[in-house]
Amino acid sequence: MFEKVTAAPADPILGLTDAFRKDPRTDKINLGVGIYKDEAGQTPVLRCVKKAEARLVQEQTTKNYLSIEGIEAYGRVVQQLLFGADSAIIAGQRARTAQAPGGTGALRIAGEFIARQLETNTIWISNPTWANHRAVFTAAGLEVKEYGYYNADAKDLDFDAMLADLAHAKAGDVVLLHGCCHNPTGIDPTEAQWQQLAKLSAEKGWLPLFDFAYQGFAKGIEEDAYGLRVFAEHNVELLIASSFSKNFGMYNERVGAFTLVAKDAETANTSFSQVKGIIRANYSNPPSHGANVVAIIANDPELYQDWLAELAEMRDRIQEMRTLFVEKLSSRGVNKDFSFIARQNGMFSFSGLNKEQVARLKDEFGIYIVGSGRISVAGITKSNIDALCDALAAIV
Ligand code: PMP
Repeated sequence: MFEKVTAAPADPILGLTDAFRKDPRTDKINLGVGIYKDEAGQTPVLRCVKKAEARLVQEQTTKNYLSIEGIEAYGRVVQQLLFGADSAIIAGQRARTAQAPGGTGALRIAGEFIARQLETNTIWISNPTWANHRAVFTAAGLEVKEYGYYNADAKDLDFDAMLADLAHAKAGDVVLLHGCCHNPTGIDPTEAQWQQLAKLSAEKGWLPLFDFAYQGFAKGIEEDAYGLRVFAEHNVELLIASSFSKNFGMYNERVGAFTLVAKDAETANTSFSQVKGIIRANYSNPPSHGANVVAIIANDPELYQDWLAELAEMRDRIQEMRTLFVEKLSSRGVNKDFSFIARQNGMFSFSGLNKEQVARLKDEFGIYIVGSGRISVAGITKSNIDALCDALAAIV
């Protein structure tokens, strides 16, 4: 029977990492997958995570199963990070959170909840968006539609196109928004645009689903929640998929969360009972390690400050690389304007390079970036930036 199975195409991002690993060149550079690297080109375990892990190993008394929704203290931390510690949503118990295996797991739970429990079957995602969104929502049984997001000439948000496309979204349709650090463009709505979108969403009756994978990578934990919190003021119902892969550097621990906000505690609980059913049939209950670490850090004032400082270190290093990248390209006489790179948020830069240029970077220089031209700035260091800029100067 297996002989009839045809080969699947390689994943556009993770497939690139496989190709990178196989490349024998010693000066190769991987700027494909969104993983933070420090100045030494390493992705180290955060110091606050190491400390929390040591404590966890000391204090842990059992490996018994967690509940379907996971660790309670973790759920509280997730909600405080999303809505702010003194949020009325938390006080009114309008939100329920389930720990999830990564942001991806949370998105899949969201997709299945929408497909099975809500009247709509349609989700609107930005064009472009993270390469896995379409796959996750299609697998959950949703119909995926796109709204315009990016103006390639202006290298900016195409707000008019976004509004024009979303004018076709019906009441009850789900609209996916990136909480901050839009992947892959690095361009987020302005505060005024967030306000306008939130009001429109409430008026039109859309259900907003926030994908929040980079909180703290644009400006800071509180600042980056601006869009979500504006939506929460205007929209009674919301869904959120959180990921702590990047901001806690716990990529392989699969730490995420699915949060549902309803008009009151009772409605939230009823809907959440269906979420639990979805989880039970998928992976039964979540793994504990990463979520425990997050809960320990967030509930210890000293470790929490350490985390904020380490997060700021990551954010500042990326920002420094953006500025340096722009400077070094212009000092090489690249006459194409790359100044927009310094205005983008988060780990990525949508470079505007075409497929041919991306292929040349890989073939001639051993530099791996995603076919869309997305560069993971988080992978640029002072040791590889000159080689990168030389290569770009040669191909642009
Ligand atoms: N959403 C976006 C926008 C992402 O960039 C990513 C990670 N690349 C995810 C979700 C998934 O996060 P995780 O690795 O925690 O599943």
